[in-house]
Amino acid sequence: MPEGDTLFRTAARLRPALEGHALTRFEAPRLRGRAPAIDERITGVQARGKHLLIHFEGGLTLRTHLRMTGSWHLYRAGERWRKPAYLARAVIGADSGWVAVCFQAPVVETFARNGAPPDALAALGPDLCLPASLADAVLDEIVARVATCAPAGTTLGEALLDQRIAAGIGNVYKSEACFAVGIDPATPIEAVPPATRRAVWEVAARQLQDNLGRAERRTHPQGLAVYGRRGQPCRRCGTPIRMARHGDLGRSTYWCPTCQVLRPLSTAERS
Ligand SMILES: [Zn+2]
Repeated sequence: MPEGDTLFRTAARLRPALEGHALTRFEAPRLRGRAPAIDERITGVQARGKHLLIHFEGGLTLRTHLRMTGSWHLYRAGERWRKPAYLARAVIGADSGWVAVCFQAPVVETFARNGAPPDALAALGPDLCLPASLADAVLDEIVARVATCAPAGTTLGEALLDQRIAAGIGNVYKSEACFAVGIDPATPIEAVPPATRRAVWEVAARQLQDNLGRAERRTHPQGLAVYGRRGQPCRRCGTPIRMARHGDLGRSTYWCPTCQVLRPLSTAERS
């Protein structure tokens, strides 16, 4: 599923095909906002957290968010697409001879860069794919954002997915970072000490950054430690990995019940 590292790689792939080139084709059947003009120059392709931004010379920026379903493909003009055209949500042709096609993204909108950015961008926390996110001051900021964005009762797993705290983590790095730090993602945030909060976001940033150049995600010499490994033996202790789904989106969380400590609230605190 698309997480911050996926979007970072997507931007890197689209950039040479689009950046600096003139727009020759723009189709976006469900676009919110104005369309850029044909022939205007594409001035940048940028990943911000899990958003992909394409900047146009005339002052508009296209924002797509892939959520669980979307993907960007790159084709030569005239080349057959690997998905049906009716699933295309944005088609961007450039005079480089490339066509970038975004399939099934639920969010496709443009905004004027000289105005207020969309709320979803304005609220984003530090981008964990950038090396700067590992600076002490940025990690302090992330811990401070946890305090404002995650009320008591929020689980650590939910807080890790909150892009206002820090941008880039999805279900994979949520599960992997909690394993690396040895804490159960179901732990209520108020039971997670500040040093552990800092450690888990720092680990997630390192894991995301380590994987920017890789096609296969890896957080362990053998691949991923827990994500996607339900029922398989923990790579550290051999206990079968567990999986649970929660929330409206059925987000999956994987963890080792032996290596990862749950710090539950007492019954009195819970009520
Ligand atoms: Zn284990």
